[in-house]
Amino acid sequence: MNSQTRLSQTRQCQNCGQQFRVEPEDFAFYEKIKVPPPTFCPECRMKRRMLWRNERNLHKRKSSLSGKELISQYADDSHFPIYDVYEFHARDWTPASLEYNPGRGFFEQFRELQLKVPRCALLTDLQSIENGSTYQNSASRNKRCYMVSASGDNEDCLYSNNLDYAKTSIDCLWCRRVEYAYECIDSLDCTRTFFCDESRQCIDSWFLYDCRNCLNCFGCAGLRNKSYCLWNKQLTKQEYEAQVGKILENLTLEQINDFQLRLKDVSLSFPRKYAHIDPQSESTCTGDYIINSQNVFKSFTVHESQNVRYCSKLIAGRDCLDVTDWGDPAELCYESITIGKGAYKVLFSSNCWPECRELQYCDSCSNSHHLFGCAGLKNASYCILNKQYTEKEYNELVPVIIQDTKKRGEYGEFFPKEFSPFSYNESVAQENFPLIKAEALKQGFNWREGDERNYRVTIEAVNVPKNIKEVDDSILDKIIGCAHKGERNHECATAFKIVAEELKFYRRFGLPLPQLCFNCRHAARFAHRNPPRLWKGYCKCAGQKSENGLYQNTAEHQHGEGKCSNKFETSYASDREEIVYCRQCYSAEII
Ligand SMILES: [Zn+2]
Ligand SMILES: [Zn+2]
Ligand SMILES: [Zn+2]
Ligand SMILES: [Zn+2]
Repeated sequence: MNSQTRLSQTRQCQNCGQQFRVEPEDFAFYEKIKVPPPTFCPECRMKRRMLWRNERNLHKRKSSLSGKELISQYADDSHFPIYDVYEFHARDWTPASLEYNPGRGFFEQFRELQLKVPRCALLTDLQSIENGSTYQNSASRNKRCYMVSASGDNEDCLYSNNLDYAKTSIDCLWCRRVEYAYECIDSLDCTRTFFCDESRQCIDSWFLYDCRNCLNCFGCAGLRNKSYCLWNKQLTKQEYEAQVGKILENLTLEQINDFQLRLKDVSLSFPRKYAHIDPQSESTCTGDYIINSQNVFKSFTVHESQNVRYCSKLIAGRDCLDVTDWGDPAELCYESITIGKGAYKVLFSSNCWPECRELQYCDSCSNSHHLFGCAGLKNASYCILNKQYTEKEYNELVPVIIQDTKKRGEYGEFFPKEFSPFSYNESVAQENFPLIKAEALKQGFNWREGDERNYRVTIEAVNVPKNIKEVDDSILDKIIGCAHKGERNHECATAFKIVAEELKFYRRFGLPLPQLCFNCRHAARFAHRNPPRLWKGYCKCAGQKSENGLYQNTAEHQHGEGKCSNKFETSYASDREEIVYCRQCYSAEII
């Protein structure tokens, strides 16, 4: 490679037409794994991958093998054979295979194969089902969980997404190692926390935003190592217990809504950091929601990773580009989604885990190595289009196929979007890059109309008793009509039930019953997070106060009395009302 190509280059995205830069570090990586530079911009690449992951949209359908009724991430009209989890994992079926034909395009041949190979109804392990977990998808190693998705290693958790290593927690999003957490978002290592956002190591606390190591606090933002604070005001233990005790004695949904609005106001009057990147990571990382990582570039939700670029939802990644979901660990992987638990050199692949290495263009393979263009294989090696070769034959044929696919302009890009088993609006692409139907169709994506919902509502949410003390066990038999009545978003399930474990939890902590279905609740939580996108921004510190005058600085800043001149890339769009500070100004104020 000559030195000229190692400079950064501006290219035009073949999909959206926007310009994007390919950096020297990117070129070095492409050289290392011997792939051509991408023709799509990073965001179009991320969207194209995300299309292959459906976490939360489940359908009733029948097994293509036995006709058995099942719950599946694939709708009834899916083009693929769909097997029940047990039927799939029994593996007493033989996946189809093809002999590579140089006269036909590789993608065309792969598609022919892909359509014949059975897919597992749910993305889950047998162990979770045997341990009593139900209605879970993209989830493994869970015990007695119900309706959790993209979550692993939990016990007794309900209605959560991206929840790991948690116990007895309900309605959480992006939390890890929490116990008795309810309606918490982006919080780690918390116990008995309710309605807490972006908080860590907090105990027995309610309505927190950006707090660390707090105990018995209520309605606070930006606190460190505090106890007995109410709306950021220090009280004595007696005062706190009397005042908060009174509130919690009779907690209603109206109060919760008021407290949430008030907390939002409080949090808007405090500065926040330009990105959710912890101090150990901030000097070498760009993106958002980055914890304990080094050399992360334009990536979103990355934990314990090094040298990763354009990734999202990655844990323990090393030298990865364009990986979405999930690592733990993954090394030297590129343009892949739902790969992990020992992924090494997995390229252009979807849903390949655990223990997969040296894979290219594979879909739903496991415990395999040296596969090219394979689907649904387990414990396999040296296969092309699912056909078995010797190691020598494989090593001779793969470069020939790569050469052919390069000539046809197919090599070096992820699968075409039409190959995804999901429509745009049932995939996580819709959550992260929402489109309306007309726009999705215009961009060439598939769109799925919602399944018809004919729940016979037996009680409307507004008629459910306001206080948990007035709720008797007969509620478990009722079908509650969601207060949104299917009108706010296409996802609204229109109705929901309360399960016994959930009722027990609400009673134990004096929580009122929800009035929204699990989908509407999830959508509300999801809206708290910033999108996986970066804007150019500047520090809103005006010297003694924030630019909008709402926050009075309490410490001296490096830049003195004048306005801070720091600029950065931030996930807060420039028209947002938050007081966004640079790293230095934020850490001068919130210690
Ligand atoms: Zn693009
Ligand atoms: Zn709803
Ligand atoms: Zn600043
Ligand atoms: Zn400042």
